[in-house]
Amino acid sequence: MIEKLKVVKNFISLRYFKKFKTRKKLEKYQKKMLLKQMKYIKKNSNYFKDIKADSIDDFKKIPIMDKKIMMENFNDLNCVNIDRDEALEIAINGEKNRNFDEKLNNISVGLSSGTSGARGLFIISDEERALWAGGVLAKFLPKKNIFGHKIAFFLRADNNLYETINSKVIQFKYFDIMKDMKDNIRSLNEYQPTIIVAPPSVLLLLAEAQNNKTINVNPVKIISVAEVLHKEDEDYFKKVFHLKIIHQAYQCTEGFLGYVCECGNFHINEDVIYLEKEYIDKERFVPIITDFLRKSQPIIRYRLNDILIEDNKMCPCGSATMVIKRIEGREDDIFIFRGIKEKEITVFPDFISRCVIYAKGVKNYKVVQEDRENITIYLDNMNSKITKKIQEEFETLAEKMKFICPKIKFSKYEFNLTKKMKRVERRK
Ligand SMILES: [Zn+2]
Repeated sequence: MIEKLKVVKNFISLRYFKKFKTRKKLEKYQKKMLLKQMKYIKKNSNYFKDIKADSIDDFKKIPIMDKKIMMENFNDLNCVNIDRDEALEIAINGEKNRNFDEKLNNISVGLSSGTSGARGLFIISDEERALWAGGVLAKFLPKKNIFGHKIAFFLRADNNLYETINSKVIQFKYFDIMKDMKDNIRSLNEYQPTIIVAPPSVLLLLAEAQNNKTINVNPVKIISVAEVLHKEDEDYFKKVFHLKIIHQAYQCTEGFLGYVCECGNFHINEDVIYLEKEYIDKERFVPIITDFLRKSQPIIRYRLNDILIEDNKMCPCGSATMVIKRIEGREDDIFIFRGIKEKEITVFPDFISRCVIYAKGVKNYKVVQEDRENITIYLDNMNSKITKKIQEEFETLAEKMKFICPKIKFSKYEFNLTKKMKRVERRK
């Protein structure tokens, strides 16, 4: 009950009071929160005990960290005395048994998805969970009619995070993606959600089912999560579900980082996160984030593996937080080819996608770079016209960017919901 009240408190605070209309007010608030968080970690985290915490200059001196550093220093870093191996065991058992209720001293434990070698462990207290839930609701409940929503959540792991939201005024149902999707789709139809939250790979299946009239659902809002939402898929969802905007939540184990607002613009949650940009070209950057609110597992100058595309506009929705054009993909998935003159040429995922979607008739696809000379393209709709066009597009791109065009192999596309969907992936 106390947790529910905290959800509501944070919802009201973020939705109605902490809405920063000017950059100046936002930056002033961020500075205050950063200093507060620095003092907190200096006092409570062994890892940060020697930092100076008096000014923003001191903040800039804190070394940047990433998932690897976080995992290596897990015990020192966290402020709640949790042992990494013990927490790992709980998280792994939870996933195996699809039971995510077990906690460690009122702290929920979860694993971030990722390739098995690079999975991150995250912990979150009940209090932080309530803050998080309030924040999510503040950003996503439609402007009018706050109450009476039925939210359908499709996720790979539950981590008992989302049940926090469940209450009399807002219903919530969790659909486990790892279970039979036919059953899921059937029970979604019975449930008749007003809001659907799901990764694009699941939304594709739902759109297909809606399209061929297996189901008939009429959500007022769709929120895409956990995977990169490509423009062509976004357009398809809009059409099938008759929606003007497909919303997105930029949510990962490191926090709730961004959302698409009512105007259709992608905001970074700068009211809870301080974001630094590490540019990788003129408009692309890798975010380095600091969360003001995480108390059990501090996220400080944490470098994510994502590529974001900058946008310098102010959104008319009334929030002065930073707007980005979109998330392009993961840094690991930047393709690397042998250059004609230079040793290596890097190619961003967008350029790879474009080579494929320019061919008319392509629906589902995946491009995998196997090594420097070979790529495999998976297509669900394949004919010689399409493959020829794609081959030509790659040759044109190679010529333009001066790399040696790889050998392209075509193969049949198959849905696999057990893994995160990626349209563009580099294996080596
Ligand atoms: Zn906006």
